[in-house]
Amino acid sequence: MPRGHLFILSGPAGAGKGTLRKILFQEIADLEFSVSCTTRKRRPGEVEGCDYYYVSHDDFKRMLEGNEFLEWAEVHGNYYGTRKSDVEKVLESGRDILLEIDVQGSGLVKSREPEAIRIFITAPSLDILENRLEDRGTETQDQLDIRLRNAAREMRLAREYDHVIVNDEIPRASKELVELVKRYRSR
Ligand code: 5GP
Repeated sequence: MPRGHLFILSGPAGAGKGTLRKILFQEIADLEFSVSCTTRKRRPGEVEGCDYYYVSHDDFKRMLEGNEFLEWAEVHGNYYGTRKSDVEKVLESGRDILLEIDVQGSGLVKSREPEAIRIFITAPSLDILENRLEDRGTETQDQLDIRLRNAAREMRLAREYDHVIVNDEIPRASKELVELVKRYRSR
């Protein structure tokens, strides 16, 4: 059984990663999503076990000490991690999986899984990113400031990725993403 493909989706907050990812999963039914563990609080509308596993700091520390993570990172003041066993199970069974993780985690996964296909979603400019993030209204001003500061740094790392998709308009960018993923899967 050939191993499945491992896709990594990254990009700054407000680039529209989540929206594009949802469209991708509507279009490609048999793609698995890697549900990360996080110490961040659940946002309204998010579902435990679907968007994230929401864990306490103590739980996260215990998992870290137990070497349970394929990668983990502190992002915007919260901890996030991908469980090794979840990803391994899917890949071993020949199915494809997508990880939506930050730039630090992406580098770690690539060093452990060199075949990983890394896709970076970005906005046409930092100004547009800022407007989108404010419109989303899910963050406090402090959280917004942290995310904006990190966005500029993350956007500079785009060149390390195999593919960069500029989310100028959702229908166009989502089509590009879907076609890209389909292309790899047909190889
Ligand atoms: P959010 O809090 O907006 O859901 O996610 C914040 C950032 O953390 C995003 O860039 C997201 O891709 C990243 N992230 C989510 N899960 C993980 C993970 O398991 N590992 C790493 N390294 N980053 C993650």
